[in-house]
Amino acid sequence: MSVLQTLKERSGDCCELCKSTTELSQYTIPPSLNENVDNDVLICKICLDQIEERTDMDANHWRCLNDSMWSEHVAVQIMAWRMLQRLRNEGWPKDLLDMMYLSDEALALARATGEDKDESEKVIHRDSNGVILDNGDSVVLIKDLKVKGSSMVAKQGTAVRNIRLDRDNAQYIEGKVDGQHIVIVTDYVKKT
Ligand SMILES: [Zn+2]
Repeated sequence: MSVLQTLKERSGDCCELCKSTTELSQYTIPPSLNENVDNDVLICKICLDQIEERTDMDANHWRCLNDSMWSEHVAVQIMAWRMLQRLRNEGWPKDLLDMMYLSDEALALARATGEDKDESEKVIHRDSNGVILDNGDSVVLIKDLKVKGSSMVAKQGTAVRNIRLDRDNAQYIEGKVDGQHIVIVTDYVKKT
């Protein structure tokens, strides 16, 4: 069964965050590099657009997290936690966060995208042109890159999809080249 089908089955064909049944799609929570049901949630377009900041946040829409934060699925818990963090200045999300339970492992992953940090303390990653990079972005290498600890050379022009940012160091991102997980210096990449 495909990941999408599994998601549809477990959710009863509705958005796992707000229960909407329209325009659903599979969403891989950043910074996951692999698609599997543990990293994915089924979400609607309204949730997706706000998560990806394509539209303004509608705080009231996210009252739905009151229910979905109790999901048994870790990926759903993580997305609920991240959105509550983004909205914490509204007040009520803080109360929900206080009630929420995440395992240590899930909490570490939930924090990986820095939603719980204030803007000023966020680590900002920029490509060689100064363009801001996000988890999940695609980049190309602008020079040949020796891969540490192997004889592999990642060639200039190689595309790296679905990158993840090193949350402590603005100069490093990670991604997969030829199936191998590598660390790349941001000066060597261009966002596509
Ligand atoms: Zn939704």
